Amino acid sequence: MITSHEFVERLKSMKPNCYMHGQLLKRDDPRMMVSMKDILMTFDVASDPQYKDLATATSHLSGKTINRFTHVHQTVDDLLKKQRMTRELSRLSGTCIQRCMGIDMINGLSIITKEADDKNGGKTEYHERFKAFLKDFQDKDKVGAAAQTDVKGDRVLRPHEQADPDLYMRVVERNAKGVVVRGCKVHTTVGPYCDELVVTPCRSLTKDEGDWSICFSIPADTPGVHMLIEAANPTPRKAFPAEMEKHGIAHSVTIFDNVLVPWDRVFLDNDPQLGSRAALLFALYHRHSYTGCKPAYTDILMGTTALIAEVSGIEKQQHYRHKLAEMISVAELVFASGIASAYTATKASSGTMIPDVIFCNVGRKHAGVNIYHEYDILCDICGGQPQTMPYEEEYADPKWRAYLDKYFMRKADVDPETVHRAFRLAQDILAGPVTSNMQIAGVHGGGSPIMEDIAIFANYPIEDKKNIARRLAGIPQKDTKQK
Ligand code: SF4
Repeated sequence: MITSHEFVERLKSMKPNCYMHGQLLKRDDPRMMVSMKDILMTFDVASDPQYKDLATATSHLSGKTINRFTHVHQTVDDLLKKQRMTRELSRLSGTCIQRCMGIDMINGLSIITKEADDKNGGKTEYHERFKAFLKDFQDKDKVGAAAQTDVKGDRVLRPHEQADPDLYMRVVERNAKGVVVRGCKVHTTVGPYCDELVVTPCRSLTKDEGDWSICFSIPADTPGVHMLIEAANPTPRKAFPAEMEKHGIAHSVTIFDNVLVPWDRVFLDNDPQLGSRAALLFALYHRHSYTGCKPAYTDILMGTTALIAEVSGIEKQQHYRHKLAEMISVAELVFASGIASAYTATKASSGTMIPDVIFCNVGRKHAGVNIYHEYDILCDICGGQPQTMPYEEEYADPKWRAYLDKYFMRKADVDPETVHRAFRLAQDILAGPVTSNMQIAGVHGGGSPIMEDIAIFANYPIEDKKNIARRLAGIPQKDTKQK
């Protein structure tokens, strides 16, 4: 394992290929240092006695202690620890810890590389290639970004039917050195500060789409890769320095302009069936990660709601208690779905544990359906103050601070600084630069809601439910396998 300092030094040695606000960006640009704070935290917690049991694992390849963010889940306990780690670290972050992207990709690839070799009767060597890659990834404690979401073009057309076939990442050439790929992956969280871009298709593919069923991983500064960056970082504090101002998030639109991927980094090619499975597996693992981070984000929203209620003197009011009970229900039901999906996980032929599809997806769906409602509750309890409170400079000026202390008092036994800080936190959450990021990610992260519905419907034994109804109605039952 490496330290966060060593990670930053490694990033600095990469070739610059990230652009933001019209400038070529250094990977350790101060704005990126805020955005990558949570990635740095994932290195720090691995040696912190409080977290290291959750934040480290034993590699099934080398037997060494590795960062859990590079681990392929071998047991139910691994899945449970990954989920708990995600909740714990997300609480520390206040936003999104980001490194789940790589671990979720890697777990999916560990499965499909083995299945491809089994299917091909040992004529391919995807799994051995992948294991060699993974061993290096673990030994060097690398950070992977999930470059999955294609730009998709006309939404009713399949990849091979698009006017421009590059609207989905595809292979444009195969030669002795490897495959040449072209396309653009959007929403690449971690893009500007990852070691590796881990790439899979983002949808189901048909037999005509062999060129689009490509999985690989390459260093993020490979020639031909260009990243256009969007960063959401909190407003710096001047009067009330706090943890919340230290954590942001950045994404890239990642362009692959005829990029050569050497064969030892190609983990699947020209197999639409397993390309489709790779897409679904990343989404499944990421939804399992969501059952850790979304409860944490509800913890943050409900904690802030409760703090505002406390300083405002409404803690015993029934309307507030009902609202808090709703938030508790969301957090703990989503978390419970992740636990259930781990306990009902199955083992793939590679040895990787696959969490249950239904439990993962219903949990993620429940979180997505409620995210704006949770913001609504915090907003309701706060009133308008988070939106209209003066800038930090006024709080830092003793002349205005005296007025603000006097007039922003709430309960007489709560000092004004506590009130100011509680509402500044509420402002960061409800009306800060990171707000829309967390809201939109709360709906679409890990796949849009329709994809959850598709996954649920494709895997749920609805015929068995019809048989229940048939029996009760006196209609002959059909022979189906009960879940
Ligand atoms: Fe991890 Fe959640 Fe962020 Fe996804 S949204 S990277 S699961 S913390």
